[in-house]
Amino acid sequence: METSFIDWPGKLCAILFVGGCNFRCPFCHNHPLVLAPEGMETIAFEEIMSRLAARKNWLAGVCISGGEPTLSPGLPRLIARLKAEGWAIKLDTNGTRPEVVAQLLGDNLLDMVAMDVKTVLVQDKYERCAGSAVDLGAIQHSIDLLCHSGIPHEFRMTIAPALHSEDDIVAWAKQFDRSRSRLKLQNFNPRTTLDVAFEKEQGFGPEIFSRFEAMVA
Ligand code: SF4
Repeated sequence: METSFIDWPGKLCAILFVGGCNFRCPFCHNHPLVLAPEGMETIAFEEIMSRLAARKNWLAGVCISGGEPTLSPGLPRLIARLKAEGWAIKLDTNGTRPEVVAQLLGDNLLDMVAMDVKTVLVQDKYERCAGSAVDLGAIQHSIDLLCHSGIPHEFRMTIAPALHSEDDIVAWAKQFDRSRSRLKLQNFNPRTTLDVAFEKEQGFGPEIFSRFEAMVA
């Protein structure tokens, strides 16, 4: 469990990482969690609650991240128990399991959702960014659920020159109603990556990245 100022805008939160992911994004920095989740520390629920209780006075919520948390069958139960203890919940997801997102929203278990939308919803481009086969219908369904959820949410995209052109970024932003949804770009950082070939790639230069950020604001 970690704490973060940046994962939930405006809130200091604890982060719970859930192992395993159905994508293999070449730029992924969480690859130990993706490729070998069995090697990660497992924390029992009572231990999670005890660590959170010790931080209750200065934490504003719990961010559940991954990996892809919606793959975990225990996720709804975990969140329900955290909510019952009074914690606000943010979920990070890649949007591949809209049925889980719908269940969590329907049960009023989420206070904020950040969904990675890897690029424009074009099959070959998306599969290149995700490093795996992608059901674009599921991605669109998750986007629609969040747009109509009435809760704060953001769609975010990690951009890299090897994967995204300026036209892609413009087209990506046009997929969303910016009056309903917050959009966020993250610049690729070539530290340790899931695809080691990507460690030779670069992010966008700071001026270009600032211009792209302004384009989607
Ligand atoms: S960046 Fe891609 S591979 Fe890594 S955790 Fe997120 S969705 Fe999974």
